[in-house]
Amino acid sequence: MISFKGIEKTYQLGSQRVEALKKVDGFIIKGSMVALCGPSGSGKSTLLDILGLLDMDYQGEIKMDGEFYPKDPKDPIEAAKLRRHQLGFVFQRFNLVPVMTALENVAYPLVLNGYSSKEQTILATEMLEKVGLGDFIHHRPDNLSGGQQQRVAIARALVHKPSLVIADEPTASLDSQTAETVIDIMKALGKEIGTTFIVATHDYRMAQHCDTCINLLDGTISKEAVSWES
Ligand code: ADP
Ligand code: MG
Repeated sequence: MISFKGIEKTYQLGSQRVEALKKVDGFIIKGSMVALCGPSGSGKSTLLDILGLLDMDYQGEIKMDGEFYPKDPKDPIEAAKLRRHQLGFVFQRFNLVPVMTALENVAYPLVLNGYSSKEQTILATEMLEKVGLGDFIHHRPDNLSGGQQQRVAIARALVHKPSLVIADEPTASLDSQTAETVIDIMKALGKEIGTTFIVATHDYRMAQHCDTCINLLDGTISKEAVSWES
């Protein structure tokens, strides 16, 4: 389980202070897919950046399986290691490397983690097959549709079998039918690999594909996490 307590984040914009998160508490059950819901400006990306160890300048504590995460919460080197080994990221605009093929994009986390080139090819190909892109492994991003690009990004986020994937509005650039397919692929693969997903969305229809929802409003949790039957 991942738990976070008293998370506060203030941005300083010139002389103006923006309280993006105000003592936010919550928990995420391992292996589940949690929607982080709320309107634009409610603090979703801020909380995801903190949980994804992209922003370490905040107040409060995060624990994973009862231990501080990272063990030394302000150690940037440990955070970088955790990001590389334990975390995966999916973004609204896919963020694929345009000059790399789908296979090279997906293999990239394996390169960073020191896998042999043979392992890189085998694992990345396998993951692309799992997202239904076995016939597109040598395509570059601009030769793929938006939905296909996001499936490449999902394969890249999962190829090193991270324990947590952070997805910030992963369906916001897709039409609603493609969005549903993409979210269902994330959910199915998350369950298969045992990865926890936290997915920010301002679209409540997408949130209903998730196991539970954390609602944010103006930097606070608007009510207890609601459980949906799936
Ligand atoms: P969401 O992802 O739900 O749209 P954000 O986490 O991006 O919300 O933003 C929460 C609040 O923090 C908003 O008021 C936003 O304007 C502000 N904010 C976000 N990033 C910054 C930043 N880098 N500098 C100043 N204010 C920011
Ligand atoms: Mg956002």
